[in-house]
Amino acid sequence: MERYDAVIVGGGPAGSTCAWRLRRAGFEVLVLDKQVFPRDKVCAGWITPAVIETLHVDVEEYRQGRVFQPITGFLVGWIDGLATETRYGRPVSYGIRRCEFDHYLLARSGARLRLGEPVRTLDRTDQEWLVNASIRTPLLIGAGGHFCPVARFLGAQPGGGEQVIAAQEIEFEMSRQQARACRVAPEIPEIYFCDDLKGYGWCFRKGDFLNVGLGREDTHRLAGHVSAFSQFLKRRNRIPQDTPERFKGHAYLLYGHAPRKLLDDGVLLIGDAAGLAYPQSGEGIRPAVESGIIAAEVILAAGGDYRRENLEAYRRRLMGRFGERGKMEVPHLFSSGLKQFIGKRLVATRFFSRHVILDRWFLHSHQPVLSTRR
Ligand SMILES: Cc1cc2nc3c(=O)[nH]c(=O)nc-3n(C[C@H](O)[C@H](O)[C@H](O)COP(=O)(O)OP(=O)(O)OC[C@H]3O[C@@H](n4cnc5c(N)ncnc54)[C@H](O)[C@@H]3O)c2cc1C
Repeated sequence: MERYDAVIVGGGPAGSTCAWRLRRAGFEVLVLDKQVFPRDKVCAGWITPAVIETLHVDVEEYRQGRVFQPITGFLVGWIDGLATETRYGRPVSYGIRRCEFDHYLLARSGARLRLGEPVRTLDRTDQEWLVNASIRTPLLIGAGGHFCPVARFLGAQPGGGEQVIAAQEIEFEMSRQQARACRVAPEIPEIYFCDDLKGYGWCFRKGDFLNVGLGREDTHRLAGHVSAFSQFLKRRNRIPQDTPERFKGHAYLLYGHAPRKLLDDGVLLIGDAAGLAYPQSGEGIRPAVESGIIAAEVILAAGGDYRRENLEAYRRRLMGRFGERGKMEVPHLFSSGLKQFIGKRLVATRFFSRHVILDRWFLHSHQPVLSTRR
């Protein structure tokens, strides 16, 4: 029987960040993930500078042999309609590949790793958790994404009435010929809203890798929307005509849509397991990283007594940072209020595109960086 101060289920950005922070405080931490890293994760791989800053990523070291694409502007418009370009003249985001980024963070965390091992059983015994009948811990952290087994243990029912965002994407390395035919500039990703405002598609070039995808608030006919979007990009000659159509899908919750229980005695949920992605853009890496840090700080402050009341500070700090769940009036892109509120023309105007869609909803430039001790 092995015993750890904390066991984290899931080695994505939420889990690896929490592990990294706890390890630096001297905790013995085990991260368990059902996949072997480096692993792929369905994601556009776009991160804001706040993520790099909070994680103290050494960019010069990171970019050695890995994709790290500065983004200095965006093209924003409608599928089959007008688009407007915004340039910032400085990097306002970065493009990474999740197989590289997640592997880097997990290796850097310093945690003990059990990879390729799914959580099969979870039991609560006498103020301890028993994981897979072989690992004991007083503290269990659910970071297993939308379908996290710890979230299920706490009552979440993925696929059972939760309002999710469904998305599909493809990422592939372009041949030399495809790279020549691709009109998407690496530093200017393109975002196109669906006609009914229920979602948006993107195409994003990271060096020679091309990422194309689309996410929507309704799960019906997603494949049809994705295929129509891909055809639109090809008609406009934005992407190579032979771009494959092997799209992979995933679903996840947006903050404010998520009724999940965040904590209980000796257990916390972080990242997608808790349903924290920004409602306006669907960006989930920053909330995953920040929730990992906040959870670790609350755990450290609890001083070894992980009764629910001592972990409540986690909920309060999340609400303080991301807003009150259930009571939020978020002007997110998928809300019906917004559909009535803004006209189609607004999206393609330079002012709205830059100051509302990009600065506020996608870049969260109004939200200060969550600072952490080095
Ligand atoms: C199509 C798409 C595009 C996106 N694009 C962006 C983007 O550009 N930028 C952005 O910020 N966000 C984006 N997101 C959201 C982002 O991917 C997630 O919010 C983010 O990955 C959440 O991180 P996490 O660590 O909580 O979970 P994950 O990254 O999902 O990690 C969860 C880990 O848990 C493991 N796991 C699951 N079940 C088990 C189990 N039973 N036992 C053990 N391990 C388990 C998994 O193998 C996985 O490694 C996108 C999402 C989608 C679907």
